[in-house]
Amino acid sequence: MEGLLSETALAGLTAELVRIPSVNPAIAPEEGTGEAAVAAFARDWLAGHGVQAWLEPVIGDRPNLVAETRAGNGPTLVFCAHLDTVGTAGMESPFTPALRDGRLHGRGAYDMKGSAAAVMTAMAVLAREPPPGRVLAALVADEEHASLGAQAFVAAHPADACILTEPSEGDLVLAHKGFAWFEVSVRGRAAHGSRFDLGDSAIENAAAFVAAARRFDREVLRQRTAALVGPASQHVAMVAGGRAGRPTPSVASSASNAARFRGRSWRRWSARSRRWWPAAASRPTWSWCWRGRPWCAIRRRGSPSPPARRCDR
Ligand SMILES: [Zn+2]
Repeated sequence: MEGLLSETALAGLTAELVRIPSVNPAIAPEEGTGEAAVAAFARDWLAGHGVQAWLEPVIGDRPNLVAETRAGNGPTLVFCAHLDTVGTAGMESPFTPALRDGRLHGRGAYDMKGSAAAVMTAMAVLAREPPPGRVLAALVADEEHASLGAQAFVAAHPADACILTEPSEGDLVLAHKGFAWFEVSVRGRAAHGSRFDLGDSAIENAAAFVAAARRFDREVLRQRTAALVGPASQHVAMVAGGRAGRPTPSVASSASNAARFRGRSWRRWSARSRRWWPAAASRPTWSWCWRGRPWCAIRRRGSPSPPARRCDR
């Protein structure tokens, strides 16, 4: 056990994980290798250390790795880390781990194959003398994009507590905000540039939306604070629409909006936003589409994610 828990062994296992590319294909399609190879490595390593481990499908060839120790009855504790990484743009040797000044360098060493190695090591140690109840390891796919792996795991494995091993500079993080992404499409009416009087610029309407979203952030969300996580907030992350030299844009001016919220159900939150934004922009007659999808760090048992919505009118 000493050997397994030594710094050298942990760094060595981390290096082995770094050597296996697992770039998230959703955020770097040109190099996205997915999590299958590293998940299979983790499964085999755990099995070799006496831990029951298996792969669970998430999307395509991108599985979660799940492992378990069990002894009698008792609560279920989850250790969670993600297996995917961001892309490698600008890196010379992303998958050749290098130890310099006591630090391991390589894509994912910090975020978060070091944590995955720690979870695997903990499972190997616990498997020798399992504590009462269950301990599950969730090495999940797709955290860097849509957290599909975590959602699949939560849906399949009820648990009493979870330790997320995302790097935090050694601090204990005791609370977490949820977040949601929205895509809002704002419509206008196309017209030739010389007959602007017949048109209604979707870009200008989107600008009104952006201003409204900013006011909603400052005047409503930032007033809601909680001791451990501070205020709720929201920002517009992307705006697109129109083409140079073309007529007044008609439809596809859109804004993508990210929000953070806490202590409110998704339904209440989205209902309030949907009332607030058009009123704040003084454009209650907007025609707009709305797509929203919440991701929450913790979801209560039996409360499924609400479905994405499209086009109100
Ligand atoms: Zn991470």
